[in-house]
Amino acid sequence: MSSPPNPMLDLLTQLGADKPEWQPLLDAMRAQQHTYAEELVDEPADQEPTRDELLLQNEQLVALLKRARHEIKRLDATVNALEQEVEATGQLHAELAAALGACPACWGTDRACPGCRGRGRPGAYPADQPLYAHYVRPAARRQQELARPGTTPAPAAVN
Ligand SMILES: [Zn+2]
Repeated sequence: MSSPPNPMLDLLTQLGADKPEWQPLLDAMRAQQHTYAEELVDEPADQEPTRDELLLQNEQLVALLKRARHEIKRLDATVNALEQEVEATGQLHAELAAALGACPACWGTDRACPGCRGRGRPGAYPADQPLYAHYVRPAARRQQELARPGTTPAPAAVN
């Protein structure tokens, strides 16, 4: 059987057409709509809903809308957090590439890279000295210490 019309779901479906992150919510709303339609299976289809039924339906739509708003807020927060994480990761990625003198776009792994044509492996360019001192020198120093005979791999002291 088909579900009763749900203008809210239709609207959210339209608004969410280019928002894949909304799809789980919309699926949940559709499932709930379907369940609600099954609950009404005893009712003859040609009979007009009573006022109480309309009120109930309205209450359910309002409850759905509240849940949708809550879910959208939650998804927005998730998207914001992910955007911040992507930005931070991108910045670290760029800094490490500069510290190592690598192509920031592909690190020398992509022959089609317009910046380096696949030749931008670490060491391909002069390293950014402050970033080299921050990221690479301590790691290289530590590796040298560990390479000495009789050295146990304990954590390095924090400066
Ligand atoms: Zn490249």
